[in-house]
Amino acid sequence: MITPDPAPSQPENWQRELARAVSDPAELLRLLELPDSLLDGAQRAAGSFPLRVTRHYLGLIQPGDPDDPLLRQVLPLDEEGQAVPGFVADPVGDSAAALGDGLIHKYHGRALLVVTGACAIHCRYCFRRHYPYAEDSALRNPTAVLTRLRSMPEIREVILSGGDPLSLSDARLQALLDGLEELPQLRRLRIHSRLPLVLPERLTGALISRLAASRLGVSLVLHANHPRELAPTLRPGLQALREAGVTLLNQSVLLRGVNDDTAILTELSEALFDHGILPYYLHLLDPVAGSAHFAVASEKARALHRQLRAQLPGYLLPRLVCEVPGEPSKRPMEAP
Ligand SMILES: *Cc1c(COP(=O)(O)O)cnc(C)c1O
Ligand code: SF4
Repeated sequence: MITPDPAPSQPENWQRELARAVSDPAELLRLLELPDSLLDGAQRAAGSFPLRVTRHYLGLIQPGDPDDPLLRQVLPLDEEGQAVPGFVADPVGDSAAALGDGLIHKYHGRALLVVTGACAIHCRYCFRRHYPYAEDSALRNPTAVLTRLRSMPEIREVILSGGDPLSLSDARLQALLDGLEELPQLRRLRIHSRLPLVLPERLTGALISRLAASRLGVSLVLHANHPRELAPTLRPGLQALREAGVTLLNQSVLLRGVNDDTAILTELSEALFDHGILPYYLHLLDPVAGSAHFAVASEKARALHRQLRAQLPGYLLPRLVCEVPGEPSKRPMEAP
């Protein structure tokens, strides 16, 4: 049984930091010394998908540079309002694979749980930017989700997704883990989160010890897109996770003007390894409405990947994939 959070006591450090995230476009432009001419567009685009960025992530952005690759991931732009053919609300077929209560079952042996719509940072290319979180989240009826999972004996791995699952409180995560660990068929738990990168305070001792104590094999998939996101201050938290036995992986999205460059992708893999993280996937952009200005053509993606392969040891080469609704796995896109 999962009970609601206890009455809010003192918010934790990370929760206070989360509450200080910047959501006003005018404040963002002021803090980063960017021209006022960006304000109208930013306000319009933020009207349909709000701006949100943590102070930590802001500190990694080069002030005065409207083309900064980290800024591009969070700055709302007028282009997002343009309708582009092929760019749709649900590009990956989530609704067809949704079983209700935030449970999405697409691939053999794995089930994905959408546990929250909340994130510490709003990525402008997010494929779930139009997801109906209010209607479909595992935490609205956790008992029903656990009952459903119990009836799916082939599931070996549960993937916590969102939104960002680490934006849940430790109490809620703890209750969810308690429930999942009771499912006899489960062997692995995977958490997909940007919080360790954008809100380093989130890696509390309590969270890390809870993951260390799990009977499940735990992996954490970070979503870094650019080497500058791997700040030196992240090292102690990531190190503690590894000492707790958590496998650290990374998946990136190939984004025009952010990381569509061999040198940047090579450096990203190197920087990930320096932080104890292995590259897992390099995803083509899911064609979600509002993100067309980030798209990199498949041919260019393959060429970049071929160059990467010539630069890096095999274990630092992410797999180039895209998601095609209805297929039994992510689709490999690599050139021979
Ligand atoms: C991407 C995804 C997974 C995980 O796929 P892996 O190839 O195992 O990383 C699982 N479920 C859903 C719904 C997904 O979109
Ligand atoms: S953290 Fe993930 S779910 Fe949240 S906005 Fe970014 S890409 Fe989307």
